Amino acid sequence: MPPKKLGQILLPLALLSLPLAFCADDPRLMNQGREQPTTRGGPAVEELTASYWLRQACDQVAARLDRTQDTVTDGRRAKNIIMMLGDGLSITTLTAARILKGQRQGRSGEESKLAVEEFPYSGLCKTYCTNEQSPDSACTATAYLGGVKTSSGTVGQSADGEIVESLSMWAHRAGKATGLVTTTRVTDASPAAAFAHVARRSDELEIARQLVDEQPGRHFKVILGGGLGKFSLERRDGRDLVQHWQSVNPEGCFARSLSELRDCVSSNGSMLGLFSDSNMAYHLAAHKEQPSLSEMTAVAIERLSEHADGYFVFIEGGRIDHGHHETRVGYALDEMLEFDAAIDMALRLTDPRETLIVVTADHSHSLTMSGSAKRGTPILGMDQLQRDVNGVQYSTLNYAIGKWQSHGKDGRRENPGKTLSQTSFTPSYIHGRKGVHSGEDVAVFAMGPKSHLFSGIMEQNLLPHLMGYAAGLDSGATPCELQRKVDTSF
Ligand SMILES: [Zn+2]
Repeated sequence: MPPKKLGQILLPLALLSLPLAFCADDPRLMNQGREQPTTRGGPAVEELTASYWLRQACDQVAARLDRTQDTVTDGRRAKNIIMMLGDGLSITTLTAARILKGQRQGRSGEESKLAVEEFPYSGLCKTYCTNEQSPDSACTATAYLGGVKTSSGTVGQSADGEIVESLSMWAHRAGKATGLVTTTRVTDASPAAAFAHVARRSDELEIARQLVDEQPGRHFKVILGGGLGKFSLERRDGRDLVQHWQSVNPEGCFARSLSELRDCVSSNGSMLGLFSDSNMAYHLAAHKEQPSLSEMTAVAIERLSEHADGYFVFIEGGRIDHGHHETRVGYALDEMLEFDAAIDMALRLTDPRETLIVVTADHSHSLTMSGSAKRGTPILGMDQLQRDVNGVQYSTLNYAIGKWQSHGKDGRRENPGKTLSQTSFTPSYIHGRKGVHSGEDVAVFAMGPKSHLFSGIMEQNLLPHLMGYAAGLDSGATPCELQRKVDTSF
């Protein structure tokens, strides 16, 4: 390819500068703040003008130039890695939760923002596993934490049974502190892939044993979530794993409630917090002594930040998936907004010049957002104007497959409007036993050192290798060529 002439280089740069110059000089755009008052249930009055959208676009160009500058031009490595996983967090869930967030604030909703919208880089990832088109949370966790795709139900092993080390192990080997936070049982498939190796995800008693007995789990500085039953009452080997953890962590602090977790903050050792026998309660149904995901996130980051050589932490909003399985979208979206608050907390407590934050999902769910609802239509309610071919109204959010169809005894679909609420079942097209995972790509968002690598469409098992590369970790499993680049690029 012939070398570019100077004009070819300067012209794109000149074009790039146009919008910013336009922003600065155009009197039509002066004195327009970012937050605009909204009319109830509809767009802001300012949205009806061209100048509003031009100002908004200019602000976004400037913000993107600002926030990408450091990570692209700066060769520094990530001292800390935070991986945040929304279980079952489909792109439809992102959109619907964003609208709900705005509507809870009395706004129209569509123009609202999630915390991940501050992230400079994003892409998609392909979630299939070795034997499944639409995967489960075990094989996907092995991909995004271990870097190897495997078969459904398998945690921390390849499909042919080879042990797969996790990013937690790579970080531990590099001298970093490690930990995990989840709203599910800490022995559930997603968090389990951070430390365990089992052929069947249902083998949670063994997963709990590996967490306290084996590395890297026994070195975790922070373990926060649910699942106390797997450590004591449900065990068939007579062991009390909490007592064992306390005996090998004499400086450690064990918590069963928010009050006890707050007391642990003043301790110096490791933390084990198990706040329910099984999964933690949905945020909508939680008692006051159950810590929120953002509270657990804050405690974890603050404790891990005390480690001079950096840390890796896995943080999961695990019950978005459960809300979807129950086809109760109000629960799923509320759990997503709890996850959103945790992401916001992570952003506030870290410096993007030294901490890489990656947010993604393991797999999608079959939630759809369909119809022609008007701006500001309550996202958990009915499309006020549209009708089906029989003249019956329908909801904006529906599941492809789920527990409940709004059908009468004559088989005709009924208007579900009177039965829809924040906690009700959501209609589905196909009557199944429960909501099911779906197989389309999921989003990946990244901020911090080397975050520009997280773009385009990626295989899910690429993610931990990129995170390891960003922090200069020796994965032990990373191809030699990539490892050489790690060694020479910093
Ligand atoms: Zn699931």
